[in-house]
Amino acid sequence: MNPSEPSASLDFIRQIIEQDRSAGKNGGRVHTRFPPEPNGYLHIGHAKSICLNFGLAKRYQGKCNLRFDDTNPTREDVEYVESIQEDVRWLGFDWENRMFFASDYFEKLYQFAVQLIQKGKAYVCDLTAEQFKSDRGTPTSPGRESPHRNRSIEENLDLFRRMRAGEFADGARTLRARIDMASPNIHMRDPALYRIRHATHHRTGGQWCIYPTYDYAHCISDALESITHSICTLEFEVHRPLYDWILDQLDGLPCHPQQIEFARLNLTYTVMSKRKLLQLVEEKQVRGWDDPRMPTIAGLRRRGYTPEAIREFCDRIGVAKRENVIDMALLDYCLRQDLEVRARRAMGILRPLKIVLTNYPEGQTEEFDIPNHPSDAAMGIRKVSFSRELYIEQEDFREDAPKKYFRLTPAQEVRLRSAYLIKCQKVIKDATGKITELQCTYDPATRGGNTPDGRKVKGTIHWVSAAHALPAEIRLYDRLFTKEDPDNESDGKDFKTHLNPNSLEVIQGFVEAGLRDAQPGSRFQFERLGYFCVDSMDSKPGHPVFNRTVSLRDSWAKIEKKG
Ligand code: ATP
Ligand code: MG
Repeated sequence: MNPSEPSASLDFIRQIIEQDRSAGKNGGRVHTRFPPEPNGYLHIGHAKSICLNFGLAKRYQGKCNLRFDDTNPTREDVEYVESIQEDVRWLGFDWENRMFFASDYFEKLYQFAVQLIQKGKAYVCDLTAEQFKSDRGTPTSPGRESPHRNRSIEENLDLFRRMRAGEFADGARTLRARIDMASPNIHMRDPALYRIRHATHHRTGGQWCIYPTYDYAHCISDALESITHSICTLEFEVHRPLYDWILDQLDGLPCHPQQIEFARLNLTYTVMSKRKLLQLVEEKQVRGWDDPRMPTIAGLRRRGYTPEAIREFCDRIGVAKRENVIDMALLDYCLRQDLEVRARRAMGILRPLKIVLTNYPEGQTEEFDIPNHPSDAAMGIRKVSFSRELYIEQEDFREDAPKKYFRLTPAQEVRLRSAYLIKCQKVIKDATGKITELQCTYDPATRGGNTPDGRKVKGTIHWVSAAHALPAEIRLYDRLFTKEDPDNESDGKDFKTHLNPNSLEVIQGFVEAGLRDAQPGSRFQFERLGYFCVDSMDSKPGHPVFNRTVSLRDSWAKIEKKG
């Protein structure tokens, strides 16, 4: 991939769409949909599908629907329906008035099933789930026909009606398509269309006790919404003949959408299955779906990722037919590019070391005007207080410094950003030898960090005034997993054995006083440290909690090169 020209050429989906348009197919219309099942929060993989579907609609002046694929009553919940809407909107997409639910079509889906029965294309089967499975055959050997395959249409209609009426127990019967038990495609061997499930649905309540399968509901829902291009992930490629078969049998549908498959997004050092993410939430391995370590949209948002960065990422990775794994570093690269221009600068200290300027008047305070952004004057300036006692970062002082260490040492002057040059005069330690304080002197002639005498000082470090700084909880995050592909359980180990025990570090630091009223969700670059976002859940007025969104550089890349 050439990062300088995202989506420069037409990907295969756009090629298909452009061909369809020039051939006048669907009257040139482009109508896509994003069809999540409301059984979990959306993750970065879904973002790829969202950007693709809504992006295509936008590019070709078409439409994209949001459709909840809610055909499985036991795993679905309104909490998810709400979070999904919030996340799609936050990503910057709009379904206008086209939010649909597969459950809205339950009656129509039932009537289409009756039509299939009437055409001799579906039958009620009494085999148990186990028999169904064992009779299905293998990819290399044909399946066995069900003893109920040749029931009369009247009997099938009667049994199907009674299935709906609740006369039978869960699993007692299914409605199956009547296709071909010898088909080389196992999905065409009389697949189930309806199952009995006496369960309460989050929208239809107790109205139904039979529920359509994904394969049956999805193609008809697409057709009912006049979808032109039904884009899904590669695992559905083998389902496509069934998608087409069902639509081909039925009368009364407005169109026959084209199913197109693309490779799903896989990312290093995380998992993307909703089932696994749910496990992390339920077993309290993380603090919830929106834990800033989660690859969910809600987690990324809380951590401080921007919708712009996620969209840019999705644009850069593009769409392809081949499975691949994308390095998390690319997402972080997009994020840094975006935050570099939009994040206000501020100073914060993660691990404080106190310094006292012995020649600075006691009780004196002065204010420095510091630009909020080094190259964007429109972001304005802020006032930052300076006084005799300051905090600097522990790692910005070394007693025995290596050659290329340009920060503060007993022998080396350093610049306090936008303030003064200082020299260390005395290192104070406790009984264990730990440095507790530095006594320094400042050069009053260097106000603003300037050197009128032209002397060269290489190092510039950040600082906060001890008397003015705001103590703040700062949360530092690392990868959630220590293994590149935790999803791969071929070594027989559960993915959770690879959870990174150090994925969260909570520290007490200090930030500029001006951040006291920083709004939840607002983002800053703490100079020299990285980008930080005010936590939207745990911050209280006057007490912001900061999440480190991302460091300024990819520290992992460095470590890995060394290793
Ligand atoms: P589950 O993990 O529960 O099996 P899912 O991740 O496929 O389900 P859905 O709610 O069915 O979740 O997904 C909605 C849409 O998002 C589907 O069109 C699906 O193909 C797409 N999608 C899901 N995961 C990814 C991914 N990693 N990359 C790209 N698209 C994805
Ligand atoms: Mg799915």
